[in-house]
Amino acid sequence: MQLADRHGRVATDLRVSLTDRCNLRCEYCMPAEGLDWIPDDQTLTDDEVIRLIRIGVELLGIEEVRFTGGEPLLRRGLAGIVAATHALGVPTALTTNGLGLEHTAGALAKAGLDRINVSLDTVDPATFAQITRRDRMGDVQAGLRAAVAAGIGPVKVNAVLLRDVNDHQAADLLDWCMDQDYQLRFIEQMPLDAQHGWHRGEMITADEIITRLEKEFRLTALDGRGSSPAEHFLVDDGPHIVGIIGSVTRPFCGDCDRVRLTADGQVRNCLFARDESDLRSALRAGASDADLAERWMIAMASKLPGHGIDDPTFLQPSRPMSAIGG
Ligand code: SAM
Repeated sequence: MQLADRHGRVATDLRVSLTDRCNLRCEYCMPAEGLDWIPDDQTLTDDEVIRLIRIGVELLGIEEVRFTGGEPLLRRGLAGIVAATHALGVPTALTTNGLGLEHTAGALAKAGLDRINVSLDTVDPATFAQITRRDRMGDVQAGLRAAVAAGIGPVKVNAVLLRDVNDHQAADLLDWCMDQDYQLRFIEQMPLDAQHGWHRGEMITADEIITRLEKEFRLTALDGRGSSPAEHFLVDDGPHIVGIIGSVTRPFCGDCDRVRLTADGQVRNCLFARDESDLRSALRAGASDADLAERWMIAMASKLPGHGIDDPTFLQPSRPMSAIGG
């Protein structure tokens, strides 16, 4: 059995959101006042999350699991969930804002965490506080150092550029990441914010990012992207590389191998899907592993060929990024 859709793609990369809560308020993601969080009784327990991951790996061909959110470090049972996933024999990864990682990286490494992506949009403390509405850049950088010290690697940094906020700092961020030996990836801003503040004409495109970086560095495009969302470029002939994820202007839907499970147990076959499939209710009603696997396969079959952002009929999903899991 596998998670195939009608367009020839098979999902093998599972993104699991462990909470929709976050301790930052990045302006492109969440409003300053936060959101109405998923109620506790609708949030999957650790055992429920682990069961669905096991079904994904043992019955449906999932080959890699990434934990995200919201902020996954806010999930108390994170290390236990990572350990249980590691025991299934698949690589585990985490996407985090890095707050608190300084104190948890060791335990996560011990639990079997293989890879980590830390979000950091700037290395200017004032710009960091402006974007995230929290003055915590030093804590994120301490978290990055702790991940390296714990032996989790490669450490990747995810950055979103906003016009007239941090777009002029792209080269500084790349310089800093190369100095620290972190692999930087710029992500185009997507229409997934709860406050609907995204405008196609205002976002910083992949082309603009490349043009900006080429003023300071020589970029050489690398082949062999596979199903990776990032296009990679060698910087100044190496050894460092930089990634650009052009989700909006350079979509890679045809090669997508991802499927998402939300903290409240909904399967989403696409980041931009407007429909989702409820595994939590079936699970809590006593469904067998085989029944849950069947429901999951049906959910994947209807994955659309593309996200359609450039289509005039495009509608943003009602769930914001923080509740889907990026
Ligand atoms: N809290 C964790 C973090 O900060 O990495 C994990 C969840 S966060 C939603 C995952 C990634 O999505 C982060 O790198 C964040 O910058 C990115 N992100 C959030 N909203 C976005 C948007 N509207 N467009 C593009 N990327 C976004």
